[in-house]
Amino acid sequence: MILPEKHYVTNLIIRDCHDREGHVGAGQVLASVRQKFWILRRHAAVRHIIGGSLQCRFWNPRLCEQIKAPLPSPRISPCVPSFRLWAWTTSVRY
Ligand SMILES: [Zn+2]
Repeated sequence: MILPEKHYVTNLIIRDCHDREGHVGAGQVLASVRQKFWILRRHAAVRHIIGGSLQCRFWNPRLCEQIKAPLPSPRISPCVPSFRLWAWTTSVRY
């Protein structure tokens, strides 16, 4: 049975498979749905349904990122080697 991407029945079928499989990822839901139905643009439809699943959002929260200050300019500018380091690397002994 061929189903359109954005249809109420299509959403119900995808949501049912998603819930029945235990809130698994898009690949598993696609495999489950494809056994009986052929949904046009099914990847986008499944991602839309999974993105709206409250249980998935609760169990897989988006991780917070630490807010960092920009590095000071001496840390990001290339350093000029000192004369002593230059003399040691070039085998010049003084
Ligand atoms: Zn879910």
